Amino acid sequence: MTTGFATFPDASAFRLLNMSAPLCLIDGGSFAADRDGLARIDLAIADGRIESLLPAGTETLRDDQPTLDLEGGLVLPRLVDCHTHLDKGHIWPRSPNPDGTFPGALTAVANDREANWSALDVRTRMDFSLRTAFAHGTAAIRTHLDSLGKQIGISWPVYAEMRERWVGRIALQASPLFGVEQALDPAHMAVVIAAVKMHGDGLLGCVTYMIPELDRALDILFRAASENGFDLDFHVDESNDPAARSLEHIADAALRHRFTGKILCGHCCSLSLQAPEDEARIIGKVKEAGIGVVSLPLCNLYLQDRQAGRTPRWRGVTALHELKAAGVPVMVASDNTRDPFYAYGDLDLVEVLREATRILQLDHSGSDWPCAVARTPAAVMGLDGVGVLAAGGPADLILTRARSWTEFFARPQGDRSILVAGRAIDRTLPGYRELDHLMGRAS
Ligand SMILES: [Zn+2]
Repeated sequence: MTTGFATFPDASAFRLLNMSAPLCLIDGGSFAADRDGLARIDLAIADGRIESLLPAGTETLRDDQPTLDLEGGLVLPRLVDCHTHLDKGHIWPRSPNPDGTFPGALTAVANDREANWSALDVRTRMDFSLRTAFAHGTAAIRTHLDSLGKQIGISWPVYAEMRERWVGRIALQASPLFGVEQALDPAHMAVVIAAVKMHGDGLLGCVTYMIPELDRALDILFRAASENGFDLDFHVDESNDPAARSLEHIADAALRHRFTGKILCGHCCSLSLQAPEDEARIIGKVKEAGIGVVSLPLCNLYLQDRQAGRTPRWRGVTALHELKAAGVPVMVASDNTRDPFYAYGDLDLVEVLREATRILQLDHSGSDWPCAVARTPAAVMGLDGVGVLAAGGPADLILTRARSWTEFFARPQGDRSILVAGRAIDRTLPGYRELDHLMGRAS
């Protein structure tokens, strides 16, 4: 058992003093921030909740309550991962990507799914992933579930079972994943919508790309979402081809249907390769349609612009700064973990924010980027009181020894401490050997 660097008072009520918190993640009160956008705060914890959140030094200390001085260490709320693939995670040892490319990933996953994704296989890998994310300090996860043929009847019931099992630790949501051309098949749509209604969370989605009948397929999806009160979540333009503009088609469809649900679009890589006037027009429509955009920088850096024998020249990420400047809600998330779409990854949002800061140069561009793994995805997922620090909210905290962003991002924060409902959790990560028994079968 390891609970990180901090030793918390063994009490239901205690005080955490002298911490640095991102001002952008504090709800209520009046705080002064330093040039990193960090405010010095004190917290009173009682019965699993934040009883008070005040500027450091202003808390009236009571003699009967234990205190812990964090000496300026950064505190975050537990974080929100709005784009993952729990059904694919950790299949790498038995089904690696043969060449590190996007087509290589598609083929390897399809073969592995067909051969190996039994309920036991999916459940075991999902549970491993959830224990990992929990140990890193994640409060909520949205996963995509490959929803094709026989897999629909296997993955969705397992997902629903895991969502129930994890209540109170990680809030889970799932969105179906299939190629957009499948939307043209009424039989497929009927099965997917039935699975979402029975096991899902009011979320419909697919992968979009430039098929000739894209608008007709999108009309079918938007109509189904409107009729059933579903939100929408798309994988969009995960490509370096500037002709990939399905993001604009999704925005047009949202406006055409006067869609009132939430829409989240992931990837949108080719947006950053558009001519400036095209990029501006598309971003304008995305804003008008109320679409949120989540960038998956780790996966993009791995897959995009890869050619044998040639050094990559492009980071693969979408135009996230321009989207944010236009007022589009922007996020970053984990995406794949140890599967053919991304060989690495551990569902650690501290790593994702650190790497996003480097890959997307989030530094030197305002101090509210922590919202991209906390407040903003929580809002998209409709989660109240998650991804923020607020009096009355849950005492769900990530605590570190880092006093500034340079200290925070320079190290992996492997010794962070995590409170869930005011109690320190065991941060021991599950070992990969646990999964060895699933890795023997060739796909
Ligand atoms: Zn994805």
